[in-house]
Amino acid sequence: MTSLWIQRCEKALAIQKQKKAYRYRKLISGGNDRILTYQGKRYLNFSSNDYLGLARHPEVIAAYQQVAIDEGISSGGSGHVIGYSPRHQRLENQLANWLSFPRALLFCSGYIANQAVISALTTVGDYIFADRLSHSSLLNAAIQSSAELIRFRHNDISSLQHLLQRFCQSNCLVITEGVFSMDGDQAPLSTMIPYIRAVDSSWLMVDDAHGFGILGLDGCGCCWDLNQDFRPEILIVNFSKAVGVSGAAVLCQEQVAEYLIQFSSHLIYSTALPPAIVAATEVALTLIRTITGKALRQQLQDNINHFRYGIQALGLGYRLLPSITAIQPLLIGDNLSTLNLVSQLREQGLWLTAIRPPTVPPNSARIRITLTAAHNYNDIEQLLEALANVNK
Ligand SMILES: *Cc1c(COP(=O)(O)O)cnc(C)c1O
Repeated sequence: MTSLWIQRCEKALAIQKQKKAYRYRKLISGGNDRILTYQGKRYLNFSSNDYLGLARHPEVIAAYQQVAIDEGISSGGSGHVIGYSPRHQRLENQLANWLSFPRALLFCSGYIANQAVISALTTVGDYIFADRLSHSSLLNAAIQSSAELIRFRHNDISSLQHLLQRFCQSNCLVITEGVFSMDGDQAPLSTMIPYIRAVDSSWLMVDDAHGFGILGLDGCGCCWDLNQDFRPEILIVNFSKAVGVSGAAVLCQEQVAEYLIQFSSHLIYSTALPPAIVAATEVALTLIRTITGKALRQQLQDNINHFRYGIQALGLGYRLLPSITAIQPLLIGDNLSTLNLVSQLREQGLWLTAIRPPTVPPNSARIRITLTAAHNYNDIEQLLEALANVNK
């Protein structure tokens, strides 16, 4: 007899298939950059989060190699045991100085950093107000926390303001993304912040996974616009997107950092980032802040402009969401049509990914096109041509 556990799995899998929501992982060999290889065939890659192409930068790779040789692969333990080195401390200090926060703490991934902060900081009686399009790592942490989660409409300041007024007697943590990962648009931080600051008991937490390295002065992210400063109380930056490496950091005040060191089980009971990863991150961040980063951001911007201009000229029958960032989502609607389009584009040698609910709201399945600085003029032309072909 099949065990109850297996029956439970089988039932859920059948439903998943029937909804056209079944997820398959594809074997991508030889890594991926501008081009990726799948089943022996080469594809132009429009699904990467390595927005600046730094994952293949020789200086980043050299730093990784050298430190792996000198210090080994593993950090050997949690930062509370033996895994915290001068290298980790230096990266934390550099991040804190650059982004003008008293402290920075390294985490092994953006997912873990979000879980850690939300679970350690909030307690019974608190409220979390999260933009409803926030990343799953934020929403899941909020659901699992003892605080009460209320989602507000995407980028809707008036519903947020309403919540803040209503619950101003309690500790309220407002959560949003800098650049939304599935829509490519930005949170209106400059209008949000005054409402949050008006309520003493409320704080803002921004996950800038997709803005860090790309937007703001020298790529410092969404929380700086020209000379204005929209720094939240808690900022999460990610090393696995534009930085091209892996890991994340929480930027916060002194007391919050110490609190997390004392009470965050995600930090205490997990092996610290490998030293070579820390070294590669340090080099990638230096590149981001200097002339190399500037040129890469310009190349990315040129590609974005080229693509958006070209799409307009095409008169495509699908809606391209109004994004000025590397994330250019083409809204299709139902799962099946989205999957069909993706496979037609794949036949033309383009690698694109269908994003379906629950990652995005119901009936808003889309093709998430990501552009990077590694793409050239002809790559964008090829993308536009392929989209024109499937449009017929
Ligand atoms: C990718 C992403 C994360 C998770 O980061 P990892 O380092 O990949 O775990 C968190 N938040 C947002 C908004 C993301 O896009």
